[in-house]
Amino acid sequence: MKPPPIVGFEIPETRVGIGYDSHRLAPGRKLVLGGVRIPAEKGLLGHSDADVLLHAITDAILGAAGQGDIGELFPPSDPQWKDADSSVFVRHAVELLDSYGWRVVNVDAVIVLEQPRISPFRAQILESVAAMLGVDPKLVGLKAKTGEGVGPVGAGELAEAHAVVLISRSGAPKLM
Ligand code: MG
Repeated sequence: MKPPPIVGFEIPETRVGIGYDSHRLAPGRKLVLGGVRIPAEKGLLGHSDADVLLHAITDAILGAAGQGDIGELFPPSDPQWKDADSSVFVRHAVELLDSYGWRVVNVDAVIVLEQPRISPFRAQILESVAAMLGVDPKLVGLKAKTGEGVGPVGAGELAEAHAVVLISRSGAPKLM
């Protein structure tokens, strides 16, 4: 039997996005993950603060919104992003969503880094990322993995991050 038509309320429109990023690790650089400074021998190399986790999350949000990617919006050739705090990129992506009536439902992410261990900083990272996204920290997932001593990640030369985000909007669909 055909289900009855849904009346009286609107089904939220949802979209999903994926993001990935990697940055080289180098001595003399700060290690910033999810906006949290982490004491370490090596930090991430990049034009901005090279916060690999926030870059993956920003790309996931932009992907869900169909709004290009972080390199298009914040080109590394632009001097204004030199040593930039990457929370600026996340907040900009969230503001862009908001301007079209979208909001972040939840985020799940993976950091792949040989060392240091992320677990002592996990709660702080979740709070930091949640504040940028305007969600409860329970709606941010974060796993830390290593490269098992293999490849550039395992050799401590590279850090990677993966992120997925779900966004939603109530009301009739409209084009962004
Ligand atoms: Mg990056």
